Amino acid sequence: MKIKAQMAMIMNLDKCIGCHTCSIPCKNVWTNRIGAEYIWYNNVETKPGIGYPKIWENQNIYNGGWEVANGSLQLKAGGKISKFVKIFHNPDLPKIDDYYEPWTYDYAKLISRAPGKHQPTARPKSLITGENIEIKWGPSWEDDLAGASTTAVDDVNFKDLQDSLYLNFQNVFMFYLPRICEHCLNPACVASCPSGALYKRDEDGIVLVDQERCRGWRYCVSGCPYKKVYFNWKAGRSEKCILCYPRMEAGMPTLCAESCVGRIRYIGAVLYDADRIKDVAGIADDRKVYSAHLNILLNPDDPEIISHAIEQGIPETFIHAAQRSPIYKLAVEWKLAFPPHPEFRTLPMVWYIPPLSPVANSLEYEDETGDVLDNMRIPVKYLANLLTAGDEPPIRSALRRMIALRIYMRSLRVDGSPNLEVLEAVGMNEI
Ligand code: SF4
Ligand code: SF4
Repeated sequence: MKIKAQMAMIMNLDKCIGCHTCSIPCKNVWTNRIGAEYIWYNNVETKPGIGYPKIWENQNIYNGGWEVANGSLQLKAGGKISKFVKIFHNPDLPKIDDYYEPWTYDYAKLISRAPGKHQPTARPKSLITGENIEIKWGPSWEDDLAGASTTAVDDVNFKDLQDSLYLNFQNVFMFYLPRICEHCLNPACVASCPSGALYKRDEDGIVLVDQERCRGWRYCVSGCPYKKVYFNWKAGRSEKCILCYPRMEAGMPTLCAESCVGRIRYIGAVLYDADRIKDVAGIADDRKVYSAHLNILLNPDDPEIISHAIEQGIPETFIHAAQRSPIYKLAVEWKLAFPPHPEFRTLPMVWYIPPLSPVANSLEYEDETGDVLDNMRIPVKYLANLLTAGDEPPIRSALRRMIALRIYMRSLRVDGSPNLEVLEAVGMNEI
């Protein structure tokens, strides 16, 4: 057993209100300079939606697809990328159009336009050309369209998405997905860099780009399945979320966590067994990756683990931090948090508690019509595709626990005791 230290984050999607406040201090502190205009270490997407960059979840768009071969994650064989081309050219990059054309508004028209039938409108204007533009899509486009339209992007086949969702107005659903770099245990960005510029810190697992060594190959951009490395066109180097390591080292939380309006982010330390990483990379069945992921994380309260960790040089302060951290409990003990797209097999370490709301039957734990989860606005299948590679039972179990907790908390009397009649009425007899 090779015990390693990792800082991780869990976000409770039920509490995200999509205000984007988290993105702003991050932008102002880390990427507020020329060349980094489109770079968002933290961004917030509307789901289901196009994402940032466009359709990042569809690995066939940028990478020609991934497959597990010889025990590791590899680009699909037989794709259009020959070995020769791979060495001298990197064709798998998102283009600037896949992020978006940065725009502002032509506010002058608000003032100069003559009075008319309708209110004057500030037209969107490109920050690059200065011309008025027609905005066809954006990373949070569904904020405006309530998730009902996928027609704005015409170069992407949405058939699979449409088949699995109910894209008509009465069944519209949406939620927000804040995203930072996953600081993966098995980071594809590190593995793909020909210059060895990307590295994972031993002391806390934070993944960084050495700006002195980066030569702008951008293989990290194509290699990262979460598309969380960005190329700074002015500096000619790649950059990415640094998990606010200068703040972490001073005992402070990340800027996104500290500024979060919904208080959705839990940061914590966790211990893991680095020897088990290769076991996960070699699992052929996508649906088994999530549970294997759980086996990698170690119980920081287990005396045997603690003594191994101390023997292997993990500082006691880190072990204590892992014991006080909510990460192991939420992810492994309570099984309420899940890794995004575990099938990518990079072992991401920013996890999500799935959103419960909006709930169709919030007061019923179970009724005669069957499982209340089948009446939820957000289909369980959609959440499972996002968080467990399609494996629904773990998601169902987590959602049911969250519903039960919500009902329990609402049943509490002034003196703090639960109202058993309320609980029995909804079938929660065991509490
Ligand atoms: Fe690297 Fe991407 Fe994983 Fe971040 S999310 S560690 S950039 S592979
Ligand atoms: Fe969501 Fe918090 Fe970011 Fe607001 S600040 S968008 S609530 S993660």
